[in-house]
Amino acid sequence: MNGAGGAYVVIAVCFGIGGGIIGRSKGQSFWLWFLIAGAVPIFGVLAAVFMRNDRTVARMQCPGCGKIHHVHDAFCLRCGTELYLPDDADAILPPEQALHR
Ligand SMILES: [Zn+2]
Repeated sequence: MNGAGGAYVVIAVCFGIGGGIIGRSKGQSFWLWFLIAGAVPIFGVLAAVFMRNDRTVARMQCPGCGKIHHVHDAFCLRCGTELYLPDDADAILPPEQALHR
């Protein structure tokens, strides 16, 4: 019984580290994804893999309040303005990752 429990802990920690590394590479918290992948090992890692990568998503500015959003957001979380993809390509901001290079 103890051996099986120990093996499960080792597996959970391994999945946790894997999920954490994937989560961190996508701009999220390592520890958040460590906990998720450790709690639900296979599902947690899959969730981290298929999660949207926030650092590589193009962004745009809210016409109402100027807050920066991802282009796929439907409305502004700060002022509630409905957001449409701008017609002007110059209004679309590059992904965050591009700015830090
Ligand atoms: Zn706004």
